Amino acid sequence: MTTPAVITIDGAAGSGKSTLGKGLAVALRLPYVNTGLMYRALTLEALQTGISTDDGTALAQLLRTIRFSLSEASPPELLIQGRPSTRALQTPRVEAEVSDVSRHPEVRALMRAAQRALGELHGAVMDGRDIGSMVFPDAPLKLYLTADPGARAARRTAERDSTQAEVEASLHARDRRDAQLNPPEAPSGAVRLDTAFLGVRETLQAALELVRLHAPGLLP
Ligand code: C5P
Repeated sequence: MTTPAVITIDGAAGSGKSTLGKGLAVALRLPYVNTGLMYRALTLEALQTGISTDDGTALAQLLRTIRFSLSEASPPELLIQGRPSTRALQTPRVEAEVSDVSRHPEVRALMRAAQRALGELHGAVMDGRDIGSMVFPDAPLKLYLTADPGARAARRTAERDSTQAEVEASLHARDRRDAQLNPPEAPSGAVRLDTAFLGVRETLQAALELVRLHAPGLLP
C-alpha cells in the first residue's frame, strides 16, 4: 500500500486544529478536511428530522443520505450536500448533542470510510479526534495538539458571538461528554504540539518544520 499524502491533526475542541489545518493546507497545496463538521452536519440533520441521538441505526441511515465532497477552492474544503458549511453547525444546540451522535460505532464506521475516500482523492490535511489513530494510521506526519482548557476557551470565544463564560461552560460540558464517549487519545507515532503559548504563525512554523523532517515529499 502506498503512503497517503495525508497529514493528520487530532486534539480536543479549541486546541487550534482548524486554524493550523487550514494554514498547512494552504502552505502544502493540499485539500483541508475538518471532520468535526461532518459529525456536526449529521447532528444538525438529526435534530431537524427528529431522529434520536440514541438511535445509532437511524443515525447511520441518515448519514448515508448526506454527501460529502471537496470544493474547487484553494485549498479545496469540505462540502456538505454540495455546499460549504454554515454557522448553523456551530450553534450551542448542535454542540450539546454532537458527542452523543458521534458515540455510535455504526456512525463512526461510515464517517471513517467517507473520510478515507476524501483523503485518498488528492491527499489532505485532515483534522479530528481519531484521524491519526483510525482513519489514516499510516500518514507520514501525525500531529496531536494540546492546550489547557483556559487557552482553548479563550480561542473559541474569539471565534464565536458568545461570552467567555458561555464558551467555557459549553466546552467543558463537551469535554466531559467526549471524555466519556469519544476520548481524545494521541495516536501512536504522533508528534505533540502544545499550542497554549504558541501564536497562529508559530504553530504553523513548528508544524512546517515537522513536515520538513517527517514528510519532505509533501512540500511543494
Ligand atoms: O472538532 P469539533 O469540535 O468541531 O468536533 C465536534 C465533535 O465531533 C467532537 O466534540 C466529537 O464529539 C466529534 N468528533 C469525533 N471524531 C472526529 C471529529 C469530531 O468524534 N474525528
